[in-house]
Order: sequence, then C-alpha cells, then structure tokens
Amino acid sequence: MEKNIKVGIVGLGLIGGSIFKAFCKLGATVYGTSRSLSTVEKAKKYSENVSQNFEILKNCDVVFVCTPMSKTIEVLRTLENVLDENTIVTDVCSLKSFVAKEKFNYKFIPSHPMAGTEFSGFDNSFETLFIGANWAITPFKDTAKNDLDRFCELIVSLGAKPILTTPQKHDEAVAIISHMPMVIAQAIFKSAENNELALHLASSGFRDMTRLALSNEEMATDMVNMNYKNIQNSLLSLYSSVGELLKDDYPNKIKDIKNRRQNMYVDGKNVY
Ligand code: NAP
Repeated sequence: MEKNIKVGIVGLGLIGGSIFKAFCKLGATVYGTSRSLSTVEKAKKYSENVSQNFEILKNCDVVFVCTPMSKTIEVLRTLENVLDENTIVTDVCSLKSFVAKEKFNYKFIPSHPMAGTEFSGFDNSFETLFIGANWAITPFKDTAKNDLDRFCELIVSLGAKPILTTPQKHDEAVAIISHMPMVIAQAIFKSAENNELALHLASSGFRDMTRLALSNEEMATDMVNMNYKNIQNSLLSLYSSVGELLKDDYPNKIKDIKNRRQNMYVDGKNVY
C-alpha cells in the first residue's frame, strides 16, 4: 500500500465498516462518514477522522462509497461538491450497470467486492472480510492505467483479488451466483411453510440451502428491483438445467457435478 495514502469511506455498515477497519489496521490515514451519529461514535474508536459531514473526506486520495444501492448515485453526486478531480472514487454496489451509466467530475472506477455475510451494520463489520475474496472492477474505456493500477493495489492490500470485467457481464454473472439463489432460498423457505412437519424435521441441509433467505432486506429488494431481467433469465436457465439433469443418466451427471463443486473451494475459498 502507498505510504501516507488517505482513504475515505462513506457508509460505515457491513462493507464500509469492514473496509474502514481493514485500512485502519493497515496503518493508512482513514476518514469516514456515515448517516447515524451512533455509527460515527463507534467508528471514532478506530480513527478520529469520522463525522456525519461529507466535508471530512475533502483531502482523500481514494474514496469508497458503501451506502445502500438506492442511495449511491445521490451520494456520488454529493461528493462532486467535496472532492477534487484527482480523487479516485469507487462504489461497492452489488450491481454495476446503473452506476456505470453515470459520469462524475472525479476519477470514478465502479467495483464490487465479492464478500459479505447475512448481517448488516458497523457492529457486524470485520477487518478480514476481504481476505481471499474476488473484487470485481468495471473500469471505463477512458480510465487511466495509472489510476486503475493504483486502485487495484489498494484492493490487493485488503487481501482481495481484482477481477476486471464489464458492467453487463458482471450483472449477468451475479444474477446467476447470488441474486437468483437468494430468491430461490426465499421461495424454498416459503413453500416449506405449507408443511408443518417438514419445518419440524428440517435439519442442516435445509438450513444451508436457505441461508440466503437471511439477506439484508434493503439490499435484497434493491437487487431484485434493479436486476430483475437477469434474475428472470437465470431462473429460465435453471429450469432447463433441472429438466436436463433429470432427463437421463442422473447418477453420472451428479458425479461430475460433485467433483467440480468439490474442487471449486479450498478452505472455504473459491479457487476456480
Ligand atoms: P449496511 O450494512 O446496511 O450498510 C450501509 C450503511 O450505509 C449503513 O450502515 C448506513 O449508515 C449507511 N448509509 C445509509 N444511507 C446513507 C447516506 N445517505 N449517507 C451516508 N451513509 C449512509 O449494508 P451493506 O451490506 O454494507 O451494503 C452496502 C453496499 O455494499 C450496498 O451497495 C451493497 O450492494 C454492497 N454490497 C453488499 C454485500 C453484502 O453481502 N452485504 C456484498 C458486497 C457489496 P448508518 O449506520 O450510519 O445509518
């Protein structure tokens, strides 16, 4: 990590709080702003440069915007009045097409850390969240190589691996691996509720399959509203995969799937 770098974070919840704590631990000069006074007070235990006022970010070199998706454009616009044109700004939104349509008067590089939990807020944030995680980055055609390299270096300092892609490809991919599975988990839970005995008998398989039904409601609603088309396409593709799987040769097909699934994670981390 660059010496004397000043890193700012807006929205000190699960993701923003984890970035904030990780940079504090790394010894960067860290600035933070959040909506609630109670969150600001808690964050002040880690760095004195925390305030409800965005002005605190004025001299930052790099700023991470970690607010809920529906608030992000408004926050990015507000930052235009605070930051200078050389500041690198990223957002961490779970979707990239809607932010990538916008232009700002600073150096904006959209991104999305592929890490999280079902919990929210500063109390649930932790400094090691991004170790071993992939971090999707969707630079613009005119993003300068120097700026992108500088940003990637920061992501690497958090323990994450930068993955460069486009906003469209990103949004299709997260529908398949994250948004559609979340909707399925919610639907599995809802349909099991029609059978009281099933709920009584449910054990670890049901618990693991329905973990995503615990997702933060604000984030889940944003994902479904803003990525509806890709989720719908993923569901259609899922139905055809189920049909294909059950049509014939089920034992061999699931043997193959089991092998590939087993090799994909080592010590809980994706090594694909
Ligand atoms: P979260 O825990 O609810 O945190 C959001 C924080 O934003 C809250 O703590 C809130 O601060 C703050 N906030 C809300 N409106 C604000 C405003 N107008 N100005 C300043 N701060 C404001 O949510 P999260 O899970 O960290 O999600 C944040 C972003 O990360 C979302 O864009 C989401 O798509 C993305 N993301 C989430 C995950 C995940 O698994 N959770 C993974 C990757 C990316 P106060 O506490 O001060 O009220």
